Amino acid sequence: MSRTNMISVAEWREKVEAEGAYNAVAEMLERIEKSKLNAYVTVDKNALKLAEEYDRGKLEGRLAGIPIAVKDNISTKGMRTTCASKILEDYVPIFDAHVIERIKQEGGIIIGKTNMDEFAMGTTTETSYFGVVRNPYDLDRVAGGSSGGSGASIANGEAVLSLGSDTGGSIRCPASFCGVVGLKPTYGLVSRYGLIPYANSLEQIGPMATCVEDLALLLEVIAGKDERDSTNAGRSFTFIPKPRKFKVGIIREMGGNADVMRCFEEAVEVIKGLGCEIGEVSMPSFKYALAAYYVIAMGEASSNLARYDGVRYGYALEQLDSWTKYFSKVRAEGFGSEVKRRIMLGSYALSAGYYGKYYLKALKVRTLVKNDFQRALKDFDVLISPTMPSLPFKIGELADPLTMYKMDVNTVPINLAGVPALSMPIGFVKGLPVGMQIIGNYFAENDILSFALELERAMAE
Ligand code: GLN
Repeated sequence: MSRTNMISVAEWREKVEAEGAYNAVAEMLERIEKSKLNAYVTVDKNALKLAEEYDRGKLEGRLAGIPIAVKDNISTKGMRTTCASKILEDYVPIFDAHVIERIKQEGGIIIGKTNMDEFAMGTTTETSYFGVVRNPYDLDRVAGGSSGGSGASIANGEAVLSLGSDTGGSIRCPASFCGVVGLKPTYGLVSRYGLIPYANSLEQIGPMATCVEDLALLLEVIAGKDERDSTNAGRSFTFIPKPRKFKVGIIREMGGNADVMRCFEEAVEVIKGLGCEIGEVSMPSFKYALAAYYVIAMGEASSNLARYDGVRYGYALEQLDSWTKYFSKVRAEGFGSEVKRRIMLGSYALSAGYYGKYYLKALKVRTLVKNDFQRALKDFDVLISPTMPSLPFKIGELADPLTMYKMDVNTVPINLAGVPALSMPIGFVKGLPVGMQIIGNYFAENDILSFALELERAMAE
């Protein structure tokens, strides 16, 4: 498997041992500055000060001295948090998200905030107010989305670990397109306190890394009890690799184009070589999952985004005439077109007369999707599929929104059910990475990671 400039935690530690954290971080900052990827919205020069502290033995913890990139919808105290939107261009949070508190407690160095689709709405990072993120393997292609910057930064050695958020695939898609590992944890495992919401009932913050072991390390740090998020499960996570002969189910309804399937089938052969028992499983409800996801996600988005009025946050106008005019003008100028489309469609789906027709129906589909997963996970330990149905797209290739939405077909059922899923690289086609999605039962992250670790080792041979 070809590698770009990726650097794992172990390699980073060696480097720091040899040349000191200050020099290593300075070199990384220089790489970011010269980079053509546009992975960052904000870079934090304070990272150098923290690196210096590490060199003086003053920074301790499980992530001590490790540069970590954070998606720009996760609140960082004193550091601009824009959601890649004009409306929040100057917003500086006065508190840290739970995950940021945890990273800081463990001595991690937040090196900057990564570029993303505006308010995490997209699959390619093309809706960002700050411009598209480019794919490290082909600059004319997208890095995926919405956590495009978090994926690209890892792939190009512009960070060692990163955080993304995943509402319908936003960690797994860029992981797949950038050839890195990414995990959407079980709903409730990681506190959402401080995550600027897009669709609360679907999203989770999750780790991205160059390898399974590093991914597990960051997950261990960010998972755990937090009373400030009422949906937090109050559980912590420790990775104990348990290699065994997994029962693996291939989901019939989740496919991909010929390029992707060729690579996927080769990986299935590797899995067979591990002595795993492989079967096929059908999930009939998935036919409706994509439509249900977009109704629910847009509904929640329309209500979440009502708070941006140009008074309480960010973008504001000089002149205040009437309140209605002011509010409309701020939102017309502050939001991009994809965000506006979703606010309008979401408000429509939730309005009286249509609520039963769209929203309630979508909730019913959601139950069917959950049931399908529970049925399949009785027979199998993990379920697999290609993460994305195609190779990374050319920038501008997905011109209409519906075509774009359809690319999420393999990732959204996971969020509807709330189960965990990981994407890991399984090879390259035409020089571009392909990812495999590994799904497990609620809080079965240990199974998913154990299986992924075995597969990663087998693929490296
Ligand atoms: N592409 C999906 C959407 O636009 C998922 C985005 C996400 O996970 N944040 O809704």
